[in-house]
Amino acid sequence: MLKMKNKMAPPAYLKLYESGELNNRIAGLNKILNQCTLCPRRCKVDRLSGELGCCEAGANLKVASVFPHFGEEPPLVCRFGSGTIFLTHCNLRCSFCQNYDISHQGDGEKISETRLAYLMLNLQKKGCHNINFVTPTHFAPQIISALPEAIEMGLNLPIVWNCGGYESLKVIKLLDGIVDIYMPDAKFSVSNYAQKYANAKDYFMILKLVLKEMQR
Ligand code: SF4
Repeated sequence: MLKMKNKMAPPAYLKLYESGELNNRIAGLNKILNQCTLCPRRCKVDRLSGELGCCEAGANLKVASVFPHFGEEPPLVCRFGSGTIFLTHCNLRCSFCQNYDISHQGDGEKISETRLAYLMLNLQKKGCHNINFVTPTHFAPQIISALPEAIEMGLNLPIVWNCGGYESLKVIKLLDGIVDIYMPDAKFSVSNYAQKYANAKDYFMILKLVLKEMQR
């Protein structure tokens, strides 16, 4: 008979934190910021010096909203909600985006990594079952940099990476053992539509590569 898996298994990143590997991953992610190739747009702008690429995200974290979300996929919501943190800006920028004010117009508040750590803890105190980063791709280094402080304050929830699927394979590999649950949208399978609505002709080719790595 198959054994039921423990529903409250500890989050993956605790092991990396204890071994010191989490700091290596943070260094690896931060290295990408001064010639940004965090996503397949590969803008190569120096975000740390204030240059902006296609996503218009700068050096500092920008967050649009933080709340226990009850409209996510039911296994993430359970009883007390998915602890959702909506990041401002987006690397995909679909023309039909339902969060246009956040993704295209940049609505949100600049926050420090310490503040992000406190926000995660607050969601945990509210009983949320996970920390769900929505559209995190362009802020991957800053988000993961906030983790050690959050862990030291007692963070013990799995991380959900709720992204648009237009990801860098290198970044997804750096997130191995940090992210517990990937929830990418698969938006286009036809190049012409990906080009027309998101200016991303190679979307489906990239998506297939990163989905395999996420699944692994
Ligand atoms: S994250 Fe933004 S700046 Fe970096 S490559 Fe992607 S679109 Fe360009």
